[in-house]
Amino acid sequence: MKSIYLYLFFQLICFNVFAQNKPNIILFLVDDMGWMDTSQPFGNSTMPLNKQFHTPNMERMAKQGVLFSNAYVNAVCTPTRTSLITGSSSARTHVTNWTSIHANEQTDFPDSVLKTPDWNVNGLSTGANQQSFLIKKPLPQILKEAGYFTIHVGKAHWGSLGTSGSDPTELGFIVNIAGSSLGHPQSYLGTDNYGNLPGKTTFNAVPDLQQFYGKDIFLTEALTQKAKKAMDYPIQHQKPFFLSLCHYAVHLPIQKDNRFVDRYIKAGLDPTEAAYASLIEGMDKSLGDIMDFLEKKGIAKNTIIIFMSDNGGLANTGRGGKPNTQNYPLRGGKGSAYEGGIRVPLMVKWPGVTKPNQRTNQYVMVEDFFPSVLEMAAIKEVDKSTIRDGKSYVPLLKNVSYADTTRALIFHYPHRWTKNENEAIAWTSAIRLGSWKLIYLMKKKQLELYNLASDLSETQNLAQTHPNIVAQLAKKLGEELRSRSAQMPIWKATGKQVAWPDEL
Ligand code: CA
Repeated sequence: MKSIYLYLFFQLICFNVFAQNKPNIILFLVDDMGWMDTSQPFGNSTMPLNKQFHTPNMERMAKQGVLFSNAYVNAVCTPTRTSLITGSSSARTHVTNWTSIHANEQTDFPDSVLKTPDWNVNGLSTGANQQSFLIKKPLPQILKEAGYFTIHVGKAHWGSLGTSGSDPTELGFIVNIAGSSLGHPQSYLGTDNYGNLPGKTTFNAVPDLQQFYGKDIFLTEALTQKAKKAMDYPIQHQKPFFLSLCHYAVHLPIQKDNRFVDRYIKAGLDPTEAAYASLIEGMDKSLGDIMDFLEKKGIAKNTIIIFMSDNGGLANTGRGGKPNTQNYPLRGGKGSAYEGGIRVPLMVKWPGVTKPNQRTNQYVMVEDFFPSVLEMAAIKEVDKSTIRDGKSYVPLLKNVSYADTTRALIFHYPHRWTKNENEAIAWTSAIRLGSWKLIYLMKKKQLELYNLASDLSETQNLAQTHPNIVAQLAKKLGEELRSRSAQMPIWKATGKQVAWPDEL
């Protein structure tokens, strides 16, 4: 009898420890959102593009937490998403390009000069699978085993159809709503059943969400309502939860959200940019709705929110206005090694830890998310089967003036993304070290050097005037790529591998 009381007492203690000490964690991930696609400035001042957007809830979140002005990701979707839940850089995972819906399908644009290396076209997998990065315990699985109720809502895009990577429940999510191998929605419109229309359905039709079919409910809103509903269970049972709310917005197709588009038409934007801005504002409303929900449920004080985008804003095609101006003052856009492709908004709100209205200029990288979340959840991971490149940014959350100019960030894109090859949008590696950035344009056999402290727009290539810095950064980039077993393209004419950046 005594042992039963002891057991119950022990359970009560455990329950309370979980309920009180483990913070809830929300990843709010936007697809293809650029650094300038917001009225909340991530630069040092409010710039013209900031005035084009209306994101009051991002401004609200910035006032409550830490804003990162120098947050980096990979230039396209799946590499960033893979790094998020593996903690490994894309150079190491060999998931260096976006994955197709279908298995074993190459997504690279054909090129007559360079051959793409044999990369992991199927994305990540929790079991042995051809052309996949093997990760036995992705981050959601670790969180689940630590007592978290794990929920995925929205775009997944971790692997191709038929692989474990295409199914969030195989990656450790208890609940999956609308996530699969899709990279973008067929339609954002409930009146289109999000693409699930008889006779018109393609593989890009968004799964689940049947309750909204035929209704005038935008996809972003539907996902938000489902996310709130999914949080009810862990809240009622006082279990800590991890919510991965990954919006399909603001990826193509750029469809107007009728709730918001008038503001932008009246402001004089062309129809495409007005529709794009309405996609952004719909996403911002979702952020506000989630914050309101947490407050209403009385759990805002114990819930961390991490807001970020998975790659830079689309700029080379498909947008209104002149190409490659959509992220100005950043150069280039999605797919590019210039800042427009890889620098994105990141904000973290951790009540009781982050002070209000803080900003840090320290650069961080997408793979830092993994160790940061483990530290937030106080999980000491013992699995050493996968090498991780990330570094926790929790110290930065506690002290925003912390600075490390010796850390090197590595970017690697041995691919051709699209027809257009200009603006460093194909065949690149890059390194950021301190305020310096070196870009290796493989096909041109050229190195470009920029000082981001004085030249955010990367307009002045200093390679000719600073050969010593070029040599130093090329050496470091080469060493880092080789240490991660990075793959290089092959010259079709000779069958030889493209030279490492320090072998030019
Ligand atoms: Ca994306």
